[in-house]
Amino acid sequence: MQRPITSFALDQEAHWTATLSCGHLQHTRHNPPISERPWVLSEEGRASRIGTERDCFRCDQFEMPDGHAPYQRTPDFNRDSVPAGLRKSHSTKVGVWALIHVVSGSLRYVVEPPVQIDSVLTPEAPGIVVPELLHHVEPLGDVEFYVEFWKSL
Ligand SMILES: [Zn+2]
Repeated sequence: MQRPITSFALDQEAHWTATLSCGHLQHTRHNPPISERPWVLSEEGRASRIGTERDCFRCDQFEMPDGHAPYQRTPDFNRDSVPAGLRKSHSTKVGVWALIHVVSGSLRYVVEPPVQIDSVLTPEAPGIVVPELLHHVEPLGDVEFYVEFWKSL
């Protein structure tokens, strides 16, 4: 999916890397003739690319970025206490990832179009919530679960 560039940094090998709004990094090195990005070498060139979008295949894979950690969690919910907001279409904010941990029972986890995933979460299979992707959950019988929010350290 498309994600805007929020900043640039040099990696350990002194190659320029873009950070996307989801927290994933992408190399933007100038290494002719393999990759021609002379703009990345100047402060001005980099600034002109902030906000431009790149295709993030790691988001497509539901892969949480490195350097993220949990910072907040909901109380435990059961079939009767699931907030209505979680049962209908909603999403996390820019850069906020989440894990849906099922403590017992099972929970239907639906990621809405354009992605379209319809899965069943269990204690062995937590759900990964990708920033800004619309989704909802639905208890399948008795269930106990909580949501843990993750962001960049
Ligand atoms: Zn991403």
